[in-house]
Amino acid sequence: MRTLDQILAESAKRHKHLCPRQVLGARMGLFAAELLGLELPRGDKRLLVISETDGCAVDGLIAATGCRVGSRTLRILDFGKVAATFTDTYTEESIRIVPRLQARFTSAEHALGARSNWEAMLLGYQVMPVSELFITQRVKLDAPLSEIVNRPGNKAICTICGEEVMNGREVLNNGIVLCRACAGEGYYHSFAESMTAEIVERIKGN
Ligand SMILES: [Zn+2]
Ligand SMILES: [Zn+2]
Repeated sequence: MRTLDQILAESAKRHKHLCPRQVLGARMGLFAAELLGLELPRGDKRLLVISETDGCAVDGLIAATGCRVGSRTLRILDFGKVAATFTDTYTEESIRIVPRLQARFTSAEHALGARSNWEAMLLGYQVMPVSELFITQRVKLDAPLSEIVNRPGNKAICTICGEEVMNGREVLNNGIVLCRACAGEGYYHSFAESMTAEIVERIKGN
């Protein structure tokens, strides 16, 4: 088993330096695996991590768990919280972990000699007992795992935009197959077709 130091070194390499939230992410991952009885890091798809923020904490989560977006074992649901839910996809047991609000202050008691609040958090988070650091809840995911995880190999074509939708992410609207964007869940509006043509021309011109 790797030590916290080794995990943090790996996280810091990815992050260019070490910061307190990476420590939180790493310790959340380690603690969740301990509670679920899973060995880390994982090279399979057994552990699913749903992180409620992007950014620093995620690098700690990745370093500790081995779960990655590219292997479809890490999801970001951006609620702007340093919090994550860890699901054992075999047993469907889920644990959500969120750092205690007070931890940023109590960390100083575990980092005597720290020269700043930031350093107190960085050092304190590494040694604080999990009971002081985290709030831990057993939770149940709202959507069935089969919906969250994947239906690899599934492919559909959206009736409106004609784009391919993988992994069962299409939606049915009155029996019509749509992508989520065309079903009204989009995150962008496209310019008119002529604008797109104009951009193509400009790129060609360069
Ligand atoms: Zn950072
Ligand atoms: Zn579409």
